[in-house]
Amino acid sequence: IPLPAEIFGARRNSAGVDLSDPLVREPLLEQLAALASKQWTAEPAFGAGGAQIGVNSPHDFGQRVGTVTYATAKGIAEGVEAAQAIQPGWDALGGEKRALLLEAAADLFEAHTAEFLSLCQREAGKTLVDAVLELREAVDFLRYYAAEARRQFSVPLVLPGPTGEENLLRLHGRGVFATIAPWNFPLAIFIGMAAAGLAAGNCVLAKPAEQTPLIAALAVKLCHKAGIPDDVLQLVPGDGAVGAALTAHPGVCGVAFTGSTATAQAINRSLAGRDGPIATLIAETGGQNAMIVDSSALPEQVVRDVLGSAFQSAGQRCSALRVLYLQEDVADSMLEMIRGGFEALHVGDPTLLETDVGPVIDAEAKASLDAHVSAMRGAGHPVWQHTLPEACAKGTFVAPAIIQIDGIAQLSKENFGPILHVARFAAGEMERMVDDINATGFGLTLGLHSRIAATRRMVEARARVGNFYVNRNQIGAVVESQPFGGQGLSGTGPKAGGPHYLARFATERVTCVDT
Ligand code: GLU
Repeated sequence: IPLPAEIFGARRNSAGVDLSDPLVREPLLEQLAALASKQWTAEPAFGAGGAQIGVNSPHDFGQRVGTVTYATAKGIAEGVEAAQAIQPGWDALGGEKRALLLEAAADLFEAHTAEFLSLCQREAGKTLVDAVLELREAVDFLRYYAAEARRQFSVPLVLPGPTGEENLLRLHGRGVFATIAPWNFPLAIFIGMAAAGLAAGNCVLAKPAEQTPLIAALAVKLCHKAGIPDDVLQLVPGDGAVGAALTAHPGVCGVAFTGSTATAQAINRSLAGRDGPIATLIAETGGQNAMIVDSSALPEQVVRDVLGSAFQSAGQRCSALRVLYLQEDVADSMLEMIRGGFEALHVGDPTLLETDVGPVIDAEAKASLDAHVSAMRGAGHPVWQHTLPEACAKGTFVAPAIIQIDGIAQLSKENFGPILHVARFAAGEMERMVDDINATGFGLTLGLHSRIAATRRMVEARARVGNFYVNRNQIGAVVESQPFGGQGLSGTGPKAGGPHYLARFATERVTCVDT
């Protein structure tokens, strides 16, 4: 039954792809099979001649997905210059016209569903379920920021004029923005940050993650096809050095970054020491996310939400659950059920429908995660771990693990993969535990399973996190409904997919006319 637009707004999030419907799934699987060996390319907008690198599948190094050409410093300089030249015109277009272009891009994204899903699987190692969610989120970002451009950038805000003067506040683009995207959401976050910059009237030089340039190249190509001018949105493929050259360019007046805390801090230092405008930094970084389960929680719900939060996307979400706290009187029975579900997880080739946990992104990630599990085992922590099937030797798989610990303070860093730590707590320790979680300095997601309203109120008031999820999983924030982002070591805010996001990409101008 369609809900009346006046209640929920005229805009709807994408319906995605219903994989449970064979009439949808079977033709899609055929399309994916036809794309299984297609070769893709990613080229910088300006300046040929950079390094050419092959991109292979994380689940099978023998499979080449395509080739990326890195941007050069000269190409970046040319790109910034071209963007500076066209930006005033893009800004002057206004929110309504920019919104139409972003919506046209969203339609084209949906029309290329199979290509995007195929690239999510082959280039980023995503399961089909995750790939569908990724494309949905990308489309939602485009349409939501289009709606926000209309709302905030089309008409000025009329402010009070106490002495009869007219005061108008308008939002404008800042100029040229650099966006630096992560590999774990190579489409959704890549296009989300770029779309926000564009919606706010900026030109955007968009750098995809080193590991996932090909899907980003398709996204940029479709934005151009939708009518966004080439110089307004430019692809800047490359590694960390290319990203550093981009943010160091004095023509860049804002950076939106999603990735590690350490890289965000490095960008912050680089911007501070650089010539040019005082640049703004919008950063969404890591987490050390906990879930607290008390003895009033519903066990079946807990099992589902723990497994989903910790192991979906192979734990490669910054929102993912890392430390599960179980109240001691229910800990043994909960853990037994969680282990039952954990053992049933299917690890393997993400292009197979039955796979729950695919590969991690690359050899470096695998080495770091494997080393963590060995170190914890060596230190005497009880560990349950999958044994990987033989086929996993072809790629960078990490055997999912559950590790018992005493508390979050025993973890010195975020472990970005399919590893869940479990600790116990006694009734009466809840406040101290929330303080321990706060003391990590991260503040991204926190889960709570409890049926006690006073507990929920206490945790809500005490926890310094961006996204607090009660009696559900703690991943998969939905654009507009659960704006996403954290505080402290987890980022600068504002929240992606939320009503305050675009304003941070903008500059404010007031015109005062005396009458
Ligand atoms: N927004 C995603 C979620 O809620 C996580 C984004 C990230 O990993 O950077 O799961």
